[in-house]
Amino acid sequence: MEVFKGSFTQQEPIPDDAIDAAVAVMRHGRLHRYNTAGDEIAETALLEQEFAALVGAKYCLAVASGGYAMATALRAVGVKPGDKVLSNAFTLAPVPGAIAAVGAEPVFVDVTDGLVIDLDDLAGKLDQAKVLLLSHMRGHICDMDALMAMCDAAGVTVIEDCAHTMGAAWNGVASGRQGAIGCYSCQTYKHVNAGEGGLLVTDDAEMAARAIMLSGSYMLYEKHLAGPPPETFDRIKYETPNISGRMDNLRAALLRPQLRKLEAQVARWNERYFTLEAGMRHTPGLTVIERAAGESIVGSSIQFLLQGWAADKVRDALRRCLARGVELKWFGAAEPLGFTSRYDSWRYAPSDPLPKSDAVLAGLIDMRVPLTFSIDDCTLIARIIREEVSAVYQQA
Ligand SMILES: *Cc1c(COP(=O)(O)O)cnc(C)c1O
Repeated sequence: MEVFKGSFTQQEPIPDDAIDAAVAVMRHGRLHRYNTAGDEIAETALLEQEFAALVGAKYCLAVASGGYAMATALRAVGVKPGDKVLSNAFTLAPVPGAIAAVGAEPVFVDVTDGLVIDLDDLAGKLDQAKVLLLSHMRGHICDMDALMAMCDAAGVTVIEDCAHTMGAAWNGVASGRQGAIGCYSCQTYKHVNAGEGGLLVTDDAEMAARAIMLSGSYMLYEKHLAGPPPETFDRIKYETPNISGRMDNLRAALLRPQLRKLEAQVARWNERYFTLEAGMRHTPGLTVIERAAGESIVGSSIQFLLQGWAADKVRDALRRCLARGVELKWFGAAEPLGFTSRYDSWRYAPSDPLPKSDAVLAGLIDMRVPLTFSIDDCTLIARIIREEVSAVYQQA
């Protein structure tokens, strides 16, 4: 019996040019983003300029984490304690956590069996909040044209959580550029790796100015190359608290060379994703998630459904895969485990039952696709999943 020996949590090493850039920052010692010598431009300011250009945004701000970027975005669009914020029932804990961080309360919206936000459920809830924190969870992008038309008509501001869609696009427009603000993560398991870190982009000068002040710019905002003009800060600088969460030059130095390689990395991820998808397709009892024509994906993880399976059968299939080295995560488990939790595990945020989402999550299996996997590894992993899932499915 074939067994897979690789690690599902091992990313690639930091590229040499990024290591060299980081060492240069450590040698001069000016790690704080506003600590520059003479007319030196900080690595952080350069990163913001380069990321803004990459996604076609007017303004960009680098911060301490993706979660911090989302909380900052919520504050920058004016969410106040006690407000409601629409968000996905299917996402990861930092998303409702960002809403809780500003004292607001999530209103959860259903997930479809295509793993995107349910636009019908959203339509029925648009009158409950002024802001939607939309999570492109596991890289699945909904019909953004339809979503934006609905939200614009209802006067709902959209903030995008692009933790899994940095490098992805909807109808040729970079993910994060449809809503008012796009938020990205630079954490080790995402698409660029600085250990921790976040980026926020917008075309709105006031939102950008507030976000910069919020992140802890003091009165040094003119050092931002991808910030709005100084006059935008005239009033904002007195009204906006400093909720310290800057990025430092060391992380920015690590990230800049990785951004230049992002497109090539996306191609490598997708080669692996589509190898896995092809290998799992037509497995009895297993449903592949079809991707929308408008989506340009980054296949850094893959999901499939065991629709209508009893929980003990799902557990059995997962156990058998794990025995052969294939580590799968299940969003149907009653108890939160590792990185995986459900809307009803976030008990600080009251939620009504969502039977449609429950039915999807009950059969939802998730797998990381690190770039340390070869294409042969992906073929083998898909073969193991196919054998074990069909074996369990065919048991009476
Ligand atoms: C990782 C992640 C975030 C937040 O990123 P951090 O940088 O870890 O704070 C937000 N949303 C989703 C869906 C994530 O997976």
